[in-house]
Amino acid sequence: MKFYSTRNKNHLVSFKDAIFQGISPDGGLYNPAEMPDLSNLFNSMDENISFVDSSAKLASEILKDDLSSERIKNLCKKAFPFKPEITDAGNNIFILELYHGPSSAFKDFGAFFLAAAMEELLAGDDRKAIILTATSGDTGSAVAQAFHNKKNIEVVILYPSGRVSPLQEKQLTTLGGNVTALEVKGSFDDCQKMVKEAFLCKELSKLPLTSANSINLGRLIPQSFYYVYAVNKFRKKYDNLVFSVPSGNFGNLTAGVLAAKWGLPVNKFIAATNINKEVPEYLESGIFSPRPSAQTYSNAMDVGNPSNFERLKDIFNDDYKKMGELIAGEWVNDDDTFNAVKSYYEKTKKFIDPHTAVGYVASQRYINKLKSFSKDSTALITLSTAHPGKFLEVVEKATGVKQILPPQLEKILTLKKVSVLINNTTDALTNFLLEKFN
Ligand SMILES: *Cc1c(COP(=O)(O)O)cnc(C)c1O
Repeated sequence: MKFYSTRNKNHLVSFKDAIFQGISPDGGLYNPAEMPDLSNLFNSMDENISFVDSSAKLASEILKDDLSSERIKNLCKKAFPFKPEITDAGNNIFILELYHGPSSAFKDFGAFFLAAAMEELLAGDDRKAIILTATSGDTGSAVAQAFHNKKNIEVVILYPSGRVSPLQEKQLTTLGGNVTALEVKGSFDDCQKMVKEAFLCKELSKLPLTSANSINLGRLIPQSFYYVYAVNKFRKKYDNLVFSVPSGNFGNLTAGVLAAKWGLPVNKFIAATNINKEVPEYLESGIFSPRPSAQTYSNAMDVGNPSNFERLKDIFNDDYKKMGELIAGEWVNDDDTFNAVKSYYEKTKKFIDPHTAVGYVASQRYINKLKSFSKDSTALITLSTAHPGKFLEVVEKATGVKQILPPQLEKILTLKKVSVLINNTTDALTNFLLEKFN
């Protein structure tokens, strides 16, 4: 399969080129140039197939021009020592827990696959890569962990000073080695803009820069794998499969949509956002009006101009009504988010983090609108994007119960933060990169 730029469909590249370029030279994002019908492949999987096996089957089909199925199988084994877990939340709502990887957030799936794919593709090439990425919290920690100590790869991570949780900051700033954390005096949108501009900067073109953001195709593709896994688990019992996806930059949702376009039987996606609700608004009105992001409890979704929106629009040929047939928008304010963390605990004695809570509220609203006969045949699968222990303060305040950190995170808190403070300008970033790597 080849991939094209959303800004020039005649510009076709291989998977390998797409993942090392990150963003297309014309500023566009890479999307699959074909939408093959893989229904037969999906039909050949049963509910007992393992996560690694179903992922390798799909990847072998999508990436067969770049890697043999044997290499892909090994790559998936290496990338995924963790897998999704499913919890029944009652009322036909299920929680697809995607936080059992090393950074305790769903971004591990994309980051670990990308890191394994890059290492595999660089091997023997005598090539180096510098990963440059902006994070609003969780991307950076997943990327940092995934690429830590990978051969021939350097990592530079930008994060907004004072705008990520203390734990997230420790995850970014304590690994050392090939991982450098840049603490930017500005917002996440500033960080994202700086990275975008750095990729287009002539002076920097001599460096082997590449991205590991959710814009990188190598992160996007593996995020489709857990939709496949979940569909395998549910399709025998339920006719109507709906995914609620807590969204910020919309990589997670876009990956699900791709799988559906390839024939995965999904009836609907819910684009669940916090009050940064540009996409739900677009789905209603056809008007997209990006704006500065507002801060919420679900801070990894505080995005005012979602980077994957261009990709999503491209998949639906800029037709918001077409998009609306597959995607329903729902936005949730902080009060409802907080109350959902609380009521979920009261009902199940289990915890969800504020991002998952946004998806959960959206699920409840959706399921309550269904007539009982269609409700019975519906599985509403809410993606749980982070471990509740990552957002201790809110979860403790909402539930009144002291939280325990996952052990891999507990350890990080005792380590010393090392970061480089820089201004929120592209010049500052350019100078830093030239000094360090030239
Ligand atoms: C990144 C992130 C999201 C949003 O995912 P997108 O792919 O950017 O839409 C949601 N929840 C958590 C915990 C995240 O880290």
